[in-house]
Amino acid sequence: MESIISLCKRRGFIFQGSEIYGGLAGTWDYGPLGVALKNNIKKLWWKRFVDDRDDMYGVDAAILMNQKTWEASGHVGGFADPLVECSKCKHRFRADQLLSADPKIAVKIGAEKCPDCGGKLGETKQFNMMFKTYVGAGEDTASVSYLRPETAQGMFVNFKNIVDSFHPKLPFGLAQIGKAFRNEIAPRDFLFRAREFEQMEIEYFIHPPKDAKDSEWKKTFDDFVGEMKAFMADVGLDAKKVHELEVPDGERAHYSKRTIDFEFDWPFGRKELYGLAYRTDFDLKQHSDFSKVDLSYFDEDGKEQFIPHCIEPSFGLDRTVLAVLCDAYREDDMGEEKRAFLKLTPSVAPYKVAVFPLLKNKPELVKKAKEVFEMIKKEFAVKGVSGVVFDDNGNIGKRYRRQDEIGTPYCVTIDFDTLEKNAGVTVRDRDTGKQERVGEEELIDFLQNKL
Ligand code: ATP
Repeated sequence: MESIISLCKRRGFIFQGSEIYGGLAGTWDYGPLGVALKNNIKKLWWKRFVDDRDDMYGVDAAILMNQKTWEASGHVGGFADPLVECSKCKHRFRADQLLSADPKIAVKIGAEKCPDCGGKLGETKQFNMMFKTYVGAGEDTASVSYLRPETAQGMFVNFKNIVDSFHPKLPFGLAQIGKAFRNEIAPRDFLFRAREFEQMEIEYFIHPPKDAKDSEWKKTFDDFVGEMKAFMADVGLDAKKVHELEVPDGERAHYSKRTIDFEFDWPFGRKELYGLAYRTDFDLKQHSDFSKVDLSYFDEDGKEQFIPHCIEPSFGLDRTVLAVLCDAYREDDMGEEKRAFLKLTPSVAPYKVAVFPLLKNKPELVKKAKEVFEMIKKEFAVKGVSGVVFDDNGNIGKRYRRQDEIGTPYCVTIDFDTLEKNAGVTVRDRDTGKQERVGEEELIDFLQNKL
């Protein structure tokens, strides 16, 4: 993790939030390459789950919502983690995370000691993780609002708007990418547990089961298991590092009839990457009750009125960025040197192709390299592909190392043979370091095939 965090800072992917003031725990700032990586992931997600389907509706709901939303969803009453404070050093911990083998038993016994100073830990208290704020000039209870702790509720409250304006037939889904905020007791492991992060979520509405034996919902659930795995492949995650955990009865949220956690083998252990839950009709029912607005659906075919059930695939965007970085990070020996590189799949790589002149002080090489760079950029733009960069900083060896470190799959170099012998350019492969000559006319096809 240290190597990955340091690469991210050195190369402009991700910085500590408010770094010059000593940071703000649980916040991270994305630099140019981090933004490019994150945007590529978002694009792949939106393409797979919204653009390529005709049963999905994209929304972008406000982060601040009427406080009743969070009463209805259960977050005001129950979105809490167990907090313990050390009586000696006053450090605070999440009780369930302090304990290794069986968290619940140990919390009850309270036998654990402070991991920082060995002091006695106090009583476990419930700590609500929502960030509270006030909307408008007043600070009375009526103006209380919260930074949303999940994007999901922004979709439930817009269910009726989508039904009224698009008249979708069941099954259909709402999809959203956006920020979520949780006042985590112990933010840790880089992007894994932050206080401000992004989620990519879907609320997929289906017919309610006809009776207790009706297991039609299972088909949709299983389809999403497949789609979630396909998305993990889109971003290049190694399937061997992802594990499905069937969350047992008693450990699921009270409204969930089935939950699968997709866990990933992080450098700090196996932990949740994504979740998939069958939320039944809990949310729409709650919002109907609390808002007094009827959120039922009229099915034209069956001529019946009901509250649909919902299946929710939930993806952490920053956890995806981190999983992609952890999975891609490699160290090897190339030539005489040790190198670190990111074996990113081209679809997520911030840059797909870097173009260099062999020497930066030979104007004829620089001119030709700029022409080739512009040509690739233009041709790629036609196909909607961005991420072509010109680089003449430092010597060629350094440029290769830099591009390897940021995961650029191909480097194109213009040398004297390009100019004098019309011998094409060299294309270097990030993973093997091998170079091959490619004629200028074939270059675009060659790169597009490779990518
Ligand atoms: P965890 O058990 O790790 O706290 P959770 O079960 O509370 O996660 P959900 O409420 O299901 O998480 O949120 C959906 C997704 O949002 C998670 O699968 C994860 O990818 C992401 N996520 C949740 N909390 C955080 C966080 N503090 N920082 C970054 N991503 C998060």
